[in-house]
Amino acid sequence: MRRLLTLLAIALISLTTHAAVTIKPEWSTPLAPFKIADNLYYVGSQDLASYLITTPQGNILINANLETSPPQIRASIEKLGFKYADTKVLLNGQAHFDHMAGSAQILHETHAKNMVMDGDVPVVESGGRADFLIDSGSIGTFPPAYVDRILHDGDTVTLGNVTLTAHHTPGHTRGCTTWTFRTHIPGDPATTLRNVVIVGGTSFWSDFHFVAHPGHPASYPNIGQDFAHTFAVLHTLPCDLFLGAHGSYFDMLEKLTRYKSQGPRVFIDPTGYQAFVTESQHTFEAALKKQQATKP
Ligand SMILES: [Zn+2]
Repeated sequence: MRRLLTLLAIALISLTTHAAVTIKPEWSTPLAPFKIADNLYYVGSQDLASYLITTPQGNILINANLETSPPQIRASIEKLGFKYADTKVLLNGQAHFDHMAGSAQILHETHAKNMVMDGDVPVVESGGRADFLIDSGSIGTFPPAYVDRILHDGDTVTLGNVTLTAHHTPGHTRGCTTWTFRTHIPGDPATTLRNVVIVGGTSFWSDFHFVAHPGHPASYPNIGQDFAHTFAVLHTLPCDLFLGAHGSYFDMLEKLTRYKSQGPRVFIDPTGYQAFVTESQHTFEAALKKQQATKP
């Protein structure tokens, strides 16, 4: 029944128009796929990160990116020697169009199960129209996608021999999700496992309102507390391999300049991870203070 209602809603909202938004060139510029760990590969563009986690029972894809991205992601998966049709689960870091717009096509083509954190489910199923930023015009709409499994904070996703944990890190979107799992990287002793952290997102811009003023509500209730909670959570996650929804979060292109000589070890960056979280937190706290001080 929920599927039928969703399809009806999709049919109705598909009649509304797309907002004009910025698409940065590096979001669609192709990048040769590369290995990060024994079972973890990068299949995204120069900045929009997409990750393939391989298992003997099929593969997990994290982030479908732009509406134009699925052919690029598919080409990267196949270049690595894997089958696109083996994609069994689709996950994401956040429900903005630059990570979500390709979902409907990938789900249609692969029949993967779409698993989304509860706060982002209405956004995914409405193609962005339920996003709290929709009226600002700063985010794009996209083809809606049905959600097969609704995730909650701390839920795990298991396929074959891999188990990922979904950490609810809200604020950037209401269901923003940071993914963690443990894996082996080439060159390490056989029994050594590394902690992978794939950050969902921590940024914001002038359309985000952390504080309610008369006649001017907060972007959504408790958005400020959500961001504060997110930084507290991110600080506690054990991190060896620092990854995220945008390559820019973890200086991917800079790290790739050393990849040829050092291999996947270039992504071992616990210090860079903590510095990223601390810097993002300070940026948020400064903006929060400024909004609190603003007289309406
Ligand atoms: Zn975003």
